[in-house]
Amino acid sequence: SFASSPIKQHQILVCVRKRPLNRRELNNCEPDVVSVPNRELLVVHEPRKQVNLTKFLEHHNFRFDYTFDDDCSNAQVHERTARPLVRHIFEGGMATCFAYGQTGSGKTHTMGGVFTGKQQNCRDGIYALAAGDVFEYLRHPKYARLGLTVSCSFFELYGTRVYDLLMPGKPQLRVLEDGKQKVQVVGLTEEPVANSDDVLKLLELGNSVRTSGQTSANSKSSRSHAVFQIVLRSPPINQLHGKFSLIDLAGNERGADNSSSNRLTRLEGAEINKSLLALKECIRALGRQSPHLPFRGSKLTQVLRDSFIGGKKVRTCMIAMISPSLRSVEHTLNTLRYADRVKEL
Ligand code: ADP
Ligand code: MG
Repeated sequence: SFASSPIKQHQILVCVRKRPLNRRELNNCEPDVVSVPNRELLVVHEPRKQVNLTKFLEHHNFRFDYTFDDDCSNAQVHERTARPLVRHIFEGGMATCFAYGQTGSGKTHTMGGVFTGKQQNCRDGIYALAAGDVFEYLRHPKYARLGLTVSCSFFELYGTRVYDLLMPGKPQLRVLEDGKQKVQVVGLTEEPVANSDDVLKLLELGNSVRTSGQTSANSKSSRSHAVFQIVLRSPPINQLHGKFSLIDLAGNERGADNSSSNRLTRLEGAEINKSLLALKECIRALGRQSPHLPFRGSKLTQVLRDSFIGGKKVRTCMIAMISPSLRSVEHTLNTLRYADRVKEL
């Protein structure tokens, strides 16, 4: 159990969450090829064949800041990943938390909330849990005197296009960079919220807008990044105090897929690939305290630019999601290698 171990306060935190085998995988007797020996280790047991065709298992060991086994709840993951970042924005910092992984690995379950049938219960996702923490901190004597206000934005990045998920009709927004290298998403809704119920309403609205018009449950959302932001402002002129961006990334397998016969799908795949590479480089540059951040490498890193600049006032957390099944072993290894590179300086 995690209960007794201290909460880590690293500037860059990289963790992995293994989801349980789902009903379909259990019915198909899919083997579970991932084990989590302790809360920092993870092993992938990859079946392989020697040249003479004798079978063997190759064991790939990985070490991360935290490894969450398949019995961990969203609340447990939240406590170690997003909660310390909520505190950081109250201290005047900028924070990002990314859910990375292949489609079906649990990104939306973790960030947006648990699905029961077709309904998504926003209440138990990290978006809502983080917002709940914000209202707790707001009442804390140390911060109450600051008179901070809270507001939320929710948008989607699809290819290089940005869509506001909190506006009727999901309008496309322009991204502008002024002379001082400030990046602005023009007209993005920043909705004031007074309590957790206000936030839940926004999440439900945004989720319904995000997934409307989709043919199969996961088809379109797996090709877009969803960004939920919690913004703290201070009186008297509503100056930015801190901002927390929580991102449900596009499925990483979409970036690798350039085999599609559809030109648009290939272009989208190329942009996803670019954004995930640029994201990795931005986090690595942050870790090296490098003054040069390659944020221009993609639309995603461009719109998140202000969350990466500011030296020690910037913190980030990546949660790499993996499926346990043998079928996914190759994607799982790709995901783990990417996460490994993020923390390597
Ligand atoms: P992604 O957003 O990465 O494509 P989802 O979050 O939609 O993946 O998860 C795919 C399926 O697996 C969903 O049916 C979801 O409910 C289930 N799932 C994901 N993670 C977990 C978990 N930790 N525990 C139980 N079910 C999960
Ligand atoms: Mg998803």
